[in-house]
Amino acid sequence: MTKADAKPSWPSEFTKIEHAQGYSYGAYGGLNGRPYVAGKCCETVLPRDSFGHSHQCTRKNGFGPAGLFCKAHDPIARKAKDEAERAKREAEWEAEKLRNKMDALAFDIAEMCVKVFAQQQPFEKLEQMTAAYKDLRDKVEKDGAS
Ligand SMILES: [Zn+2]
Repeated sequence: MTKADAKPSWPSEFTKIEHAQGYSYGAYGGLNGRPYVAGKCCETVLPRDSFGHSHQCTRKNGFGPAGLFCKAHDPIARKAKDEAERAKREAEWEAEKLRNKMDALAFDIAEMCVKVFAQQQPFEKLEQMTAAYKDLRDKVEKDGAS
């Protein structure tokens, strides 16, 4: 590619109809592919059985950049979906960390109970730890509800 205005390599990156119009669908080795069909989604898809050549998506376009994509292949929607999934995983990871913290603290509280009972530690320490535990529990419950 010698043009300054380099075309995206993959249909999922197309932003202009010119990108799709210059693309060859299913080109393989030295074989020429098929040209872009207007009105159809510009994404390239593999055959259902994964054998044979890829081809242009047969669904109607109208979504994504320049309306080049079908609803399923809209890269903007896909990106948003990926982002939402990532955020969800992160929230789950955070909740898991909080639960682990609670488990560890519950054990420490149990140990502290023994020490307070044996008058090796002041009662206030146990109160502080119990309050910290309650804070964590409230946080977990709040996150779980949202
Ligand atoms: Zn499509």
